[in-house]
Amino acid sequence: MKKKKPEWAPENSGKEFATQVLPGISNAKSTGKNPTVNSMSKLTTKDFVKGILKDDRSILARAITIVESNTSEHISQAQEILKELLPKTGKSIRIGITGSPGVGKSTFIESFGNFLCEKGHKVAVLAIDPSSKRSKGSILGDKTRMEKLSRQKNAFIRPSPSGGTLGGVTRKTREIILLCEAAGFDVILVETIGVGQSEITVRSMADFFMLLLLPGAGDELQGIKKGIVEMADMLVINKADGNNRQKAEITQHAYSDALHYLQPATDGWTTGTFLCSAINDEGIDSIWKNILDFIKLTKDTKLFYTRRNEQLLEWVYTMVEENLMNSFYQNPKVVKSKSGIDNKVLSGEITPVNAVNILLEKLLK
Ligand code: GDP
Repeated sequence: MKKKKPEWAPENSGKEFATQVLPGISNAKSTGKNPTVNSMSKLTTKDFVKGILKDDRSILARAITIVESNTSEHISQAQEILKELLPKTGKSIRIGITGSPGVGKSTFIESFGNFLCEKGHKVAVLAIDPSSKRSKGSILGDKTRMEKLSRQKNAFIRPSPSGGTLGGVTRKTREIILLCEAAGFDVILVETIGVGQSEITVRSMADFFMLLLLPGAGDELQGIKKGIVEMADMLVINKADGNNRQKAEITQHAYSDALHYLQPATDGWTTGTFLCSAINDEGIDSIWKNILDFIKLTKDTKLFYTRRNEQLLEWVYTMVEENLMNSFYQNPKVVKSKSGIDNKVLSGEITPVNAVNILLEKLLK
């Protein structure tokens, strides 16, 4: 990457005035060099911390951009900011929301979010969508989907980080949750579309997990097969309006019956089924009441805190595993000998266990 001094640089300026292509925040690897000083670097960690604690939205947004960045410089500044903010985090209710595309998640979040803002809550809406290849990799990118909510001063909507791997997206989303909490958001909604591991990921960062379903959609108990119903603390049959109302009630009964045979997602809690019409703002009130009951119960039994602690440590070790995997697959000695060893396994010359030992030895020595 060639550095070029721009014409407008002050006479005795250093290389901070060089222009170069920035790695950007999406899927970029650090160049190892200090990229051109841009507006980001004008804020110190202290500025960020102060701004976020005051809920300065432009500083919050800039901090999120730093958290989302993959450059090593930004990664270390993000950690500094987060470390300072940690004592101010953790005070929100973290709600995960999932459901197939078209079930009405955005419409529901719009309605639910507005309801909460009107009650005086501060609501942050985040998303996990590692699969998206759309620009900015975003399921919330289409602003028009939550137009009313985005105009609420107590709401903050942030599209899914385009982090490539689920691991990358997970770290960023978890860190964004912390930033939003430090800025005073007391309800965090994390939306995901049901792709691969993303539901498990959202469950692993939420206090309460909600599954949206359609009235009588084909095989009514679809979610059960996929194991998602077992993860949910609440099932919401959305679009329970007009001609669909009766169908929605039948669906509700079918799920209520099925739930009797399943382990609850949270010990001591009975997963409820609710009817909702997100488009008409119906059913939202009882959904929120049920969530509050859940929070009270789990705080009384301390399960709320135990789960948070478990989630925190799980996060640490998931990252350890990911880092180990990366160092394994990127290790030059492993890379060099891998295909030879693969061939020996395939030809029966060595056993899979022999291969593991040889490869790990290359990593560890
Ligand atoms: P998402 O893909 O899960 O985010 O779904 P959307 O929120 O984009 O909604 C998909 C479609 O369903 C849109 O055309 C919505 O207007 C419609 N929709 C959402 N909620 C309701 C509802 O409660 N009742 C009805 N009748 N339609 C709804």
